[in-house]
Amino acid sequence: MRLFLALEPPDSLRERLGELADLAQARCGGRRMPDESLHLTLAFLGEVPEERVTALSAWVGERSIPSGEWRLDAWGTFRRPGIVWVGGREPDTALARLHGSLWDGLAAFGFNHRLEHFVPHVTLLRRARRLETRGLPTIDLAWPWRRFSLVRSFTENDGARYQTLARSPVA
Ligand code: ATP
Ligand code: MG
Repeated sequence: MRLFLALEPPDSLRERLGELADLAQARCGGRRMPDESLHLTLAFLGEVPEERVTALSAWVGERSIPSGEWRLDAWGTFRRPGIVWVGGREPDTALARLHGSLWDGLAAFGFNHRLEHFVPHVTLLRRARRLETRGLPTIDLAWPWRRFSLVRSFTENDGARYQTLARSPVA
């Protein structure tokens, strides 16, 4: 199954991000991520054989991480495939460290798809018609985090749906 590791936003932030997605969609068009799908991908694992998922879930369930707070203060876009996102203006040291340490752990499972350039972002729109974020409101939001999730991605008619399989313990 198709899996990734992610941070899931607290409910109040999820709601706020959903409002930003509405504003962005009004300006840029495209497909808006449903509120329940909003996340920050830490590690994309791709297709993982069923028989490895139990061990991976157990690893996640035992791996506590330091807590942190990510500052969301920038809009951004990826040209392909028309992504509009929110993230941080400055690189976030704590997230970079978390990304690195999770990939160190994943290497023990034989995963080697670590990205050289990790750009933490929350996708709000896909296949946007206009990649123009000027005129959208200034953002300054805090995302407190203390655990990560193992998430399954599966395709439905109108796009990807996610299901959380395991969460790391809170230290
Ligand atoms: P779809 O691909 O159907 O449009 P999706 O991108 O939401 O939907 P997935 O492709 O399963 O679903 O991706 C799950 C998460 O992993 C998303 O946050 C996506 O941006 C990220 N992701 C997908 N492929 C990669 C990749 N090759 N490298 C890094 N992150 C990826
Ligand atoms: Mg994808």
